[in-house]
Amino acid sequence: MSFTPSTPWQDRSVVVTGGTRGIGRGIAEAFARRGAAVALTGRDAKTAEEVADGLARATGGRVCGVGADLREPEAIEALAAEVERRHGHIDVLCANAGIFPEKPLREMTAADIDEVLHVNLRGSMLAVRACLPAMERVGRGRVVLTSSITGPTTGFPGWSHYGASKAGQLGFLRGAALELAPLGITVNAVLPGNIRTEGLDAMGADYLRRMTASIPLGRIGETADIAHAALFLASDEAAFITGQTLTVDGGQTLPESLDSLDSLEAP
Ligand code: NAP
Repeated sequence: MSFTPSTPWQDRSVVVTGGTRGIGRGIAEAFARRGAAVALTGRDAKTAEEVADGLARATGGRVCGVGADLREPEAIEALAAEVERRHGHIDVLCANAGIFPEKPLREMTAADIDEVLHVNLRGSMLAVRACLPAMERVGRGRVVLTSSITGPTTGFPGWSHYGASKAGQLGFLRGAALELAPLGITVNAVLPGNIRTEGLDAMGADYLRRMTASIPLGRIGETADIAHAALFLASDEAAFITGQTLTVDGGQTLPESLDSLDSLEAP
């Protein structure tokens, strides 16, 4: 192990689920800019291909788009097979796709719960399982889950099913990290705070203003903030890190009260 940055990104094949927009697109861009071969996914193949073409043009990198609905186990298996066919191998999986529909608990149906758990929790678990044979063939691998502060660290009224899915990812992460350690595959998670994406914008200007006020570093996060964390956890430099979480939230989960935020002084 040397102290010189060593990851040969140009030899790495990376799958990013939910790469058609938001955090996933940012993660895909970061890997593409390092020279990795990137496959980004979304439900619709045509949309994924269009986003991939745009990213390839913008970065000069190698990016392809593959359609796969994470609610469908066969589609996830087909995705892994397709990426291995195109790239010859899979080294990194960023299991990032997720949904966050608001639903108060008293109105929540079994179908609402199933939808969120199927995409966010079962979908990421099945994506890891589907990429496993390819990583075993390589003899090492990196899994980076996009979890959230919501669930593992905090709660948010209206998002209890979402919080359960994101906390569930961490239970999965710890078991998977142990099982896959002998194969040289690490499994870690990034826990984003509030990150500026189309999904977050849909929460409205008032939400964004109030969220910004609750973040000690004074801004909503950028997709690049999460992408850089994912890049590190997927790098060779992170070889000795597994089963861990990395919170990227601008300090949002630090204050113990509104008073502790109010007492912060602007320079
Ligand atoms: P987003 O802008 O809404 O993007 C969601 C992505 O997931 C899209 O690429 C979408 O692709 C894909 N997706 C949704 N349903 C899918 C399905 N059934 N099958 C396959 N792909 C599906 O969301 P985001 O804000 O970037 O969030 C990305 C991840 O970060 C999620 O796991 C989210 O929980 C987590 N997160 C976000 C924030 C935040 O502040 N933004 C904070 C904490 C955690 P298509 O629509 O093309 O299918």
